[in-house]
Amino acid sequence: MAVQTAASTTDTTTVDLGPAAALSCRECGERFALGPIFACELCFGPLEVAYDFPVGDPEGLRKKIESGPENVWRYAPLLPVPADVASKPNLNPGWTQLVKADNLARELGVTGRLYVKDDSGNPTHSFKDRVVAQAVEAARAFGYTTLSCSSTGNLAGAVGAAAARAGLRSCVFIPHDLEQAKVVTAAVYGGELVAIEGTYDDVNRFCSELIGDPLGEGWGFTNVNLRPYYGEGSKTLAYEICEQLGWEIPDQIVIPVASGSQLTKIDKGLQELIKLGLVADKPYKIFGAQATGCSPVSTAFKAGHDVVRPQKPDTIAKSLAIGNPADGPYVLDIARRTGGAVEDVDDAAVVEAISLLARTEGIFAETAGGVTLGVTKKLIENGQLDPTLTTVAINTGDGLKTLDAVADRARPTATIKPNLDAFRAAGLATD
Ligand SMILES: *Cc1c(COP(=O)(O)O)cnc(C)c1O
Repeated sequence: MAVQTAASTTDTTTVDLGPAAALSCRECGERFALGPIFACELCFGPLEVAYDFPVGDPEGLRKKIESGPENVWRYAPLLPVPADVASKPNLNPGWTQLVKADNLARELGVTGRLYVKDDSGNPTHSFKDRVVAQAVEAARAFGYTTLSCSSTGNLAGAVGAAAARAGLRSCVFIPHDLEQAKVVTAAVYGGELVAIEGTYDDVNRFCSELIGDPLGEGWGFTNVNLRPYYGEGSKTLAYEICEQLGWEIPDQIVIPVASGSQLTKIDKGLQELIKLGLVADKPYKIFGAQATGCSPVSTAFKAGHDVVRPQKPDTIAKSLAIGNPADGPYVLDIARRTGGAVEDVDDAAVVEAISLLARTEGIFAETAGGVTLGVTKKLIENGQLDPTLTTVAINTGDGLKTLDAVADRARPTATIKPNLDAFRAAGLATD
């Protein structure tokens, strides 16, 4: 539907936001016209995109999707972006591999089907390219000229790259103590990168202040004032997983939780597929994964609380290190409603899980992927995850960005002189 651009109050041009119909409050349900707003005027609850979906022809819609491009835009009829997005420069992420992980399944005692959705295959090597692809289009639609974000690392790189491709200026904010690879892969795209002396939660607070100040005028913050649109990008993970399974919802999905946005939008995506008749309605369980050193949501889940109490993060899983997660309460709701759980593992288990996935499936995950796989293993061991069913675990990032986590256990087996005697002496030949 058409909306007025809101970046300038004197500008009366309208833009097309595809099938998106309105923004609706996730707390009180009040509806608002589409625009660059993110909080309800009545109750301050977070806003999300609501749709007028093309119901009534699931076969036609399925065919349209299947004949679309091999990236997130194959789901354009289900996303809040202009219809001609494919003709504009965008990183076009998505359609990553759904790996049937039989070796891993054997190690974990899984007799059902186990898959790893490997989102390290995106353009900047994390799932963040999906959400940023939507945010960039929303920023264009609203006339923002600078793209920004508060980031635990991967988002900064995704925004930098997407802005470069789209021809927008970028200025992104990160905590000062990130892994070197995250800093380099955020800075290399030529935008401004500002390191803040504080935690991610300090960075996020700072960005909220900047939005309210003339200094931040004309800036689109992907995960703050563009958050309703940004979040929709995570739905494509749900769409792809189901389409790649032959339009079927898996029984169990394990998803890492930082702010919790990704997990809540995957659930939203599954509900939409059911509503649209693209998949059969069936029960599924959603599991959230956190690092013990930053586990505000799993702590609340296990204590039976509805309120998520903020924590000060201390974990190697820096991309998940959000101590005060915006979507925490919604994650609790979804885990409880679907019969899933939120669980956490310590840093040693994260490192073990990274090694396990690498050695069984040839997938090198970043620490967030180690958290997800470590929690998957723990949930199987404690009986919360049924090993006879179909399970999908999401690897959201690339191990090359968090080399330090495994650097001292991934070394040459031997260092030898370049001759056969030396190799024989090393005892590595098969006999
Ligand atoms: C940001 C991020 C997440 C979690 O995202 P939320 O939507 O904030 O929960 C998971 N994995 C990686 C690698 C990330 O960068």
